[in-house]
Amino acid sequence: MPSTAEDVLKFLKENNIKWVDLQFTDVPGRLHHITIPASDFDLESLKTGFGKLDGSSIRGFTSIYESDMVLLPVPETMTLVPWSPGVARVLCKVFWGGGKGRFERDPRFIAEEAEKYQAEQGYTSYYGPELEFFMFDKVKLDVSTPQSGTGYKIHAREAPWSDSGTFVIRFKEGYYPAPPVDQLMDVRVEIVDTLVKYFGYTIEATHHEVATAGQGEIDFRFSTLVDTADKVQTLKYVAKNVAAKHGLVVTFMPKPIYGDNGTGMHTHLSLWTKDGKKNLMYDPNEEYAEISQFGRYVIGGLLTHARALSAIVSPTVNSYRRLIPGFEAPVYIAWSKGNRSAVVRVPAYYKGMEKAKRIEYRPPDPSTNPYLAFAALLMAALDGVNKKIDPGDPVDENIYHLTPEKRRQLGIKELPRSLNEALDELESDKEFLKPVFNSSLLDSYIDLKRDEARSLQGYPHPMELYYYLDS
Ligand code: GLN
Ligand code: MG
Ligand code: MG
Ligand code: MG
Repeated sequence: MPSTAEDVLKFLKENNIKWVDLQFTDVPGRLHHITIPASDFDLESLKTGFGKLDGSSIRGFTSIYESDMVLLPVPETMTLVPWSPGVARVLCKVFWGGGKGRFERDPRFIAEEAEKYQAEQGYTSYYGPELEFFMFDKVKLDVSTPQSGTGYKIHAREAPWSDSGTFVIRFKEGYYPAPPVDQLMDVRVEIVDTLVKYFGYTIEATHHEVATAGQGEIDFRFSTLVDTADKVQTLKYVAKNVAAKHGLVVTFMPKPIYGDNGTGMHTHLSLWTKDGKKNLMYDPNEEYAEISQFGRYVIGGLLTHARALSAIVSPTVNSYRRLIPGFEAPVYIAWSKGNRSAVVRVPAYYKGMEKAKRIEYRPPDPSTNPYLAFAALLMAALDGVNKKIDPGDPVDENIYHLTPEKRRQLGIKELPRSLNEALDELESDKEFLKPVFNSSLLDSYIDLKRDEARSLQGYPHPMELYYYLDS
């Protein structure tokens, strides 16, 4: 992949590129693009950027009276677009027009600021998100005349309710069966092949997930903050496009199916010395999970701010349908080695995991904006470190099964139950984000999310008719 402006020009020429897709992310986290002629690229334009963007039409960006914005390509992110011959894509940094500098609501800017901030404090950090998703044959919205309780009909080749498949995965048994019961392996392999061949990923694993119909997961190798967020955006883009070629719909929404597992984006996190030489999370002399005192402070910060973090890492109305007991999604603000009902898990597969010692933060789901999510996790972790917040004892029982009374005794709080509750928490606990999250971005984010919550709350859910029609 190119790393300088000169490399970019060489790349365009050698690959006979005619069009370049300039890509960037809006405030809620959706990838956007504008396609321009490759002939516009020269050393000058790669320095000044491209004045092609009307920021007023992008969610969370600008108002119509100050809408001219500039996109500056990041050379290392230029790749071919495998399904569009003659086209390359590149991720961009967003600037105000008229030479007014970096646009402060560009989510990638927040992630870049987070990297700067940690370096000033003497650290570097690594992120390893596990991307889950569903892959459906077809989703038919059925809102106007709801025939099903959900208001939509999902066609999935592996689903017991579908007539399209030969094999059926039994309820919540998707994780284990080999093909031909798993009917999506070929598509998953094509997605990871594409990521490796064209986008420079190292893949750790891909598999069917637990849910019955069409749930999958792709895990790529951990990396630094901005790079990992870029990779999340790119993975979603590639998965959706490769699947679309097969007539399939990939969705990263957190809970598309009632009664079955939802879709998470557990994120593995470790903090190291700035030179990348020492993993600060590891201490072989610590009995419990070989997690260092420093690592415990990281956990302390994450647990302390977990309720506020929810507004960023579980950022949709739908996210809160996932965060309920019984589906391997976290509900309780506690930490543990193996406990999947807790917010933080410390993987302890074998002794001496010096390089691999990390924590897994389980609340995130892939409807999040990864630039904001990873920056916010880092800020919570650093707050724990700077204030020396010890998380207390781990909880190794299944917290789903504890009585409310016992949970109270142990001081275990719960994650927020709705987007609005999470936004309330964020509004009252945002100081820890301030060194990196400017208030222009935070205000824009909170406004958008309040609107989203308000709008969805106005819709009577089709199931409410079932419950209340005879009121
Ligand atoms: N899908 C589950 C979640 O929502 C996680 C399942 C797993 O990876 N064990 O978080
Ligand atoms: Mg996994
Ligand atoms: Mg998983
Ligand atoms: Mg996991």
